[in-house]
Amino acid sequence: MTPEAAAETFVETLVIGGGPGGTPAAMALAQAGRRVLLVEAGQGLGGTCLFSGCIPSKIFRETAFRRQEAARASEFGLGDAPSTLPEVNWSTVQSRRHRILAQRAGGALAKANSLPTLEVVFGRARLTGPRSAVIERAGEPNRTIQFKTAILAPGSVPKHLPIPGADLPGVLDSETLISIGFVPDSLALIGGGPIGIEMAQIFAQLGTKVSVLEAAPRILGPVDATLADLLAQHLTDSGIALETGVTLAKIEGVEDAHQVHFTRDGESHSIAAQVVAIVAGRHPNVAGLGLETTVVRHGPHGIHVSDSLETDEPGIFAIGDVVGHPMFAHWANAQAHAVARHILGQPAAFPHPEHNSAVIFSSPEIGMVGLTEEAARARNDKISVAEYDYRIDARAQISGETLGRLRIVYREDDQRIVGVHVLAEGAADLMGEAALAVRNGLTLEQIAASIHPHPTLTEAFGLTALSALARPSQG
Ligand SMILES: Cc1cc2nc3c(=O)[nH]c(=O)nc-3n(C[C@H](O)[C@H](O)[C@H](O)COP(=O)(O)OP(=O)(O)OC[C@H]3O[C@@H](n4cnc5c(N)ncnc54)[C@H](O)[C@@H]3O)c2cc1C
Repeated sequence: MTPEAAAETFVETLVIGGGPGGTPAAMALAQAGRRVLLVEAGQGLGGTCLFSGCIPSKIFRETAFRRQEAARASEFGLGDAPSTLPEVNWSTVQSRRHRILAQRAGGALAKANSLPTLEVVFGRARLTGPRSAVIERAGEPNRTIQFKTAILAPGSVPKHLPIPGADLPGVLDSETLISIGFVPDSLALIGGGPIGIEMAQIFAQLGTKVSVLEAAPRILGPVDATLADLLAQHLTDSGIALETGVTLAKIEGVEDAHQVHFTRDGESHSIAAQVVAIVAGRHPNVAGLGLETTVVRHGPHGIHVSDSLETDEPGIFAIGDVVGHPMFAHWANAQAHAVARHILGQPAAFPHPEHNSAVIFSSPEIGMVGLTEEAARARNDKISVAEYDYRIDARAQISGETLGRLRIVYREDDQRIVGVHVLAEGAADLMGEAALAVRNGLTLEQIAASIHPHPTLTEAFGLTALSALARPSQG
């Protein structure tokens, strides 16, 4: 049979990509009884987040964090200070990753298969027109599809850097770094964004000598500057070399001996590393989608969409990393639910970037919701910031993790909270209250009047709001 010879299928909605965007969108539509076809080119449902992003990086982080904890056990009255840290059994770490991934992907597929109007197909989908597509499957005939609506959720791919040596076989990206078979002696990470900083601390805690090269004057560009500076100092104190303001020249090397050449302020420098990984961000993944057969437009920041995430081709929507920043799993998921409701004709709250929350899983973690102080001031609002230093915090003192700061950004006129930024071990789990406050425009008064349990890290929200309210008015 020729590849194009298979029967044609008609579906109400075709969803391309089974990541945190496509999978929930497909399931929400099928739960409402719509006939949906979900096509995934990879090994299972879960996307970058499950197979090479959020989940594997946090699995590695857990091992690294626990190893570091072992070093501190004697501080808490447990044994003597160890002369060496626990050895890392990397194959156990990687097997644990495979086990968790398989369990999660299996769970997602079982849930999808339980929905009678949802069909999941593993293959690569390509649009062939505004209402048609073809699915290519290895060793099987192609399937042609006609659809009423489509949701494009093909995610993103690691950014390539146009410098000599970036394509050397031993130079990794965020995806190949996840499947590395050993803990390197030394690692140069090109990129000081969230992925670079998470990986830097993970490998440093596992015993690797780590350098981070960042083109911007500071790491974690979009993060609150006070928190980014505090974390940068902590990374430097813990032995990670942060090289900021650099221009990369080239990478040289063979297999496990690389030299990264760069300039700063006109001077040439180089660093040696067993492994080099380019983690300088991600590009929307539009290649091979067949967009040229439609009027869907795209640019460097991804597929162009309206406020309701519809492309220029009526009936074709796009969600997740393929529509550009912010690129987060929970963001893709929020867009998925909004688009599904919209297609079902229900009222949909499309998420707004100013309400997005995000966590950088550094140690300590950084959690953020809404506007930074700089971004809020740039809008000409009269802004104040209420701050709390976790060194005085009961819970932080108990856990021995006192490096931390909470910064609440609020408007002076009505005291509405427009941003919350936290550096603290445990910040990730503080973001729920912060997200609720920013999304609903809560005031300092409302936060202060909410009773926060003691002793917890969330107490800081109430205490900080109270002390800001007690300040003499600046007006
Ligand atoms: C190292 C790392 C750590 C991260 N950590 C976090 C984190 O802690 N928290 C967080 O929120 N986000 C994190 N992210 C980002 C997160 O992974 C992405 O924002 C999220 O996965 C985007 O979801 P998506 O559905 O848009 O795309 P993806 O998850 O990329 O899924 C797209 C899917 O589409 C499939 N596909 C592509 N083209 C086709 C085609 N033509 N036909 C069929 N299928 C196709 C792909 O195989 C893929 O499975 C991290 C990313 C990385 C790289």
